[in-house]
Amino acid sequence: MSAVTVGVLALQGGVREHVRLLEELDARTVPLRTPSDLVGPDGLRVDALVLPGGESSTIDRLLRIFGLFEPLRDAVAGGLPTLGTCAGLILLAREVLDPAPGQQSLGVLDVTVRRNAFGSQVDSAELDLDTVDGPVNVAFIRAPQVVSVGPGVDVLARRDQAIVGVRQGAITGIAFHPELTGEPLFHRRLLETATASTPPARSVA
Ligand code: GLN
Repeated sequence: MSAVTVGVLALQGGVREHVRLLEELDARTVPLRTPSDLVGPDGLRVDALVLPGGESSTIDRLLRIFGLFEPLRDAVAGGLPTLGTCAGLILLAREVLDPAPGQQSLGVLDVTVRRNAFGSQVDSAELDLDTVDGPVNVAFIRAPQVVSVGPGVDVLARRDQAIVGVRQGAITGIAFHPELTGEPLFHRRLLETATASTPPARSVA
């Protein structure tokens, strides 16, 4: 089986840890900074996407400056398997509460999120969490919370009562950082989804 190629959005935030985890799982990774990193003359250049954590309002601004906002939105809306962590979840959401001034989101995941819902940086924590796919050990850093989900969205994980992990089709959004603790579950699932949805033409190329 040829390796899955994962585009990791690399405008700002915690890119390196995602790349390391994906490469440990035998994926190829490509940093995404410009529209042509994502889309070539023959269509999409990647089989899956990771939107890392960082500062969602900064990533949003850079996406628009680099002309990547619309191509990225179209690719995710078109079914490209995508994992968004923390700020990446905020970017995916349909609605963002407590946004920075002018902040936009891609609007491809039918959830409402509240930024910085667990308090400030000092309240960051490493926790064991139960998910529908089993227990994980992950880090929360100025994490958002999902405050409502649309009808097509499955809840994957909660921290106390708060929803912190969701899936809608090929899109997974999590409020925490599995890459910082080396927890491979979500990245493995992303690669499995990409393998299942990779057209034969690309997998034999
Ligand atoms: N609080 C950040 C934001 O609003 C997200 C933090 C993170 O990605 N670790 O973008």
